[in-house]
Amino acid sequence: MTKKTLLTTILTILIAQAVFATDKHWSYKGSTGPETWGRINKSYEQCSIGKTQSPINITNATKATLSKINIDYLNRPLRIINNGHTIQVNYSGGKITVGDETYNVLQFHFHSPGENQINGKLYPMEMHLVHKRTDGALGVLAVMIEKGKANATIQKIWGHLPRKAGSEKIYKNVSINASNLLPKSKRYYRFMGSLTTPPCTEGVNWHVLQTPITLSKKQIKSFESLYKGNNRPIQAQNNRLIMMGILSK
Ligand SMILES: [Zn+2]
Repeated sequence: MTKKTLLTTILTILIAQAVFATDKHWSYKGSTGPETWGRINKSYEQCSIGKTQSPINITNATKATLSKINIDYLNRPLRIINNGHTIQVNYSGGKITVGDETYNVLQFHFHSPGENQINGKLYPMEMHLVHKRTDGALGVLAVMIEKGKANATIQKIWGHLPRKAGSEKIYKNVSINASNLLPKSKRYYRFMGSLTTPPCTEGVNWHVLQTPITLSKKQIKSFESLYKGNNRPIQAQNNRLIMMGILSK
């Protein structure tokens, strides 16, 4: 390989990595906004042709006896990334079990304002804990966020908010346990949906907790100073079944 081809190869790899890292091909407004996602890339076509897309307005939920969600999250050092679309905490720290299904947690991230609505109510923020089931299916545990008391775990995370998009930062002396980001009641809505960002992959098992958590006004403002408007618009429900747990605690 000549020096020139080597240089070209290295440059190509670097550019490819930069594009992958910040994924500039889609955004939340303008010419690369949500209405265009399905056309931006062939692999994003579910965004426009999918029939079980997320987020949705959760209405007309059918009351059902749903399995209890058991939370088994562990303490892990903070691994945080500003990926150009949100703040994401990479968190391979345990699992949740829903009946006989086990979902290993991968990461959690935030939207401002919220994405799913509950009977038409849009929350100031929403947190998504993304999991992979042992059979490969994805499962999201979604938590609505309201203005109120400050959250101590969020305070620890916000203390290390990467202001610019870039690679993951690890803070070995900052211990995070995502169970401290959940409300006491784990009653939830259950329905099938998709990723809310390209490629909008379907077959995602959504569990939306009925009870919100609170962040202080200042904590919400801190997030909004980085991302405000990173929420995909509501998608058609298309008569999909939405179950509302009545006996799960
Ligand atoms: Zn999300």
